Amino acid sequence: MQNNLERIGENINNALIRSGRKDEKVDLIAVTKTIDIETINKSLCLGITDIGENRVQELEEKISQLEEEINYHMIGHLQTNKVKYIYDKVKLIHSLDRKSLLKELDKRGKIGNKIINTLIQVNVAEEKTKFGLKVDDLIPFIEEILKYENIKVQGLMTIAPNTDNEKELRQVFSTMYKLKEKIEDRNYKNISIKYLSMGMTNDYEIAIEEGSNMVRIGSGIFGHRKY
Ligand SMILES: *Cc1c(COP(=O)(O)O)cnc(C)c1O
Repeated sequence: MQNNLERIGENINNALIRSGRKDEKVDLIAVTKTIDIETINKSLCLGITDIGENRVQELEEKISQLEEEINYHMIGHLQTNKVKYIYDKVKLIHSLDRKSLLKELDKRGKIGNKIINTLIQVNVAEEKTKFGLKVDDLIPFIEEILKYENIKVQGLMTIAPNTDNEKELRQVFSTMYKLKEKIEDRNYKNISIKYLSMGMTNDYEIAIEEGSNMVRIGSGIFGHRKY
């Protein structure tokens, strides 16, 4: 694991240099789904500060068993009836993708007197198997979010298609970067695109070259998952 983390750190830095951003940084989220507590604790000793889970139940289990200073990220599809279990425990919800979830998050935020930090998930390639808004629906959705006082948009998230086709991947990531610029140009009150959460084990270097500043890496750190 230590070697993996060192190599990932170097790859991230090199990708930043290639993209002309050598003084910037990329947040590394260690994706810990299926990974046991002992292994996660080892990764924390090696400098991991942020972990991501894609299922609410597993996230809750990890939160109850790990140290408190960790930043938790909900990176998977979030059902409205499960919001109540995690909304006040995570740093960022990466999967805001529909109005019903927006309403539920805002409701919980009001009850708990909290601002909920979110990323909007975009399904750039419009894959049937993936969640997320279509590109054309993003701006109207953002304008809807402006009505909800307890929701703060901190950026955008995407999961690229599972392919080795570099050109296709670049296209997806650069579309996300253009969306970020488009939103910033509109100067919406209370919306800042601080994070572009994109890039996983197989595509994080390309994602960074195209402007990502938050990567979600699982198997690249922990090895192949055994389901
Ligand atoms: C599992 C998962 C990842 C990490 O995938 P790896 O290929 O293991 O790096 C990233 N993002 C999401 C949303 C995931 O579910």
